Amino acid sequence: MRELDERAYRLQQQVDADMLQQLKLAGQQQQQAVSSPTKRQKAVNAAAAAAKEAELAERLEANMNELVKLSDEKLNIATQIYDYIDRHITKLDKDCKAFDAEIAKERQRLGLPPVEPTVGGGSVDTGGGGGKRKRKDGGGEQRKLTPEEQYQQALAMADPSEPKYCHCQRISFGEMIACENPDCPYEWFHFGCVGLTEENRPKGKWYCQLCRKQLKLK
Ligand SMILES: [Zn+2]
Ligand SMILES: [Zn+2]
Repeated sequence: MRELDERAYRLQQQVDADMLQQLKLAGQQQQQAVSSPTKRQKAVNAAAAAAKEAELAERLEANMNELVKLSDEKLNIATQIYDYIDRHITKLDKDCKAFDAEIAKERQRLGLPPVEPTVGGGSVDTGGGGGKRKRKDGGGEQRKLTPEEQYQQALAMADPSEPKYCHCQRISFGEMIACENPDCPYEWFHFGCVGLTEENRPKGKWYCQLCRKQLKLK
């Protein structure tokens, strides 16, 4: 692209120079018309000047055409780059949408409503209360990790015997909440899996959906 620009610049200069020369030539012709001694000499001079002028005009035209071609080429490349970026953005967008759809499908598969605030109170994980197994923490919180990132991180650090929790049956990661029912089959739940966030973390006792049903709780 830069190379094209330079070529275009040089051509432009050539065109300018040619135009200047043509103007000068026209001036000379006029002068000659006045000062040439003989008619014959005048004609010769005029012919020579005309030939030179024609040649110049030709070169001028060729350069102009070249300039247009170069401009077109530049435009082409710019368009191509634009298309290329556009395609990638479109693809990224599509991937994001597909990913979202996948998450939504997964949530549906797990019988989860799409991001729902939980009803009723509950006790938030403050470290293995009520005789529950202690969970490992998902690491520092310098940067807000997405739940998926937290999970991948925990998974990378976990050993194969790491206990699985929650109805999603994955290992502990990020914020977890304990079900108050001592007979709960899952005991601990990922915040995201039960529609909880740090903002709407329940105060007081919390039961999972399954236990709420079994204990006939609302
Ligand atoms: Zn879960
Ligand atoms: Zn439960």
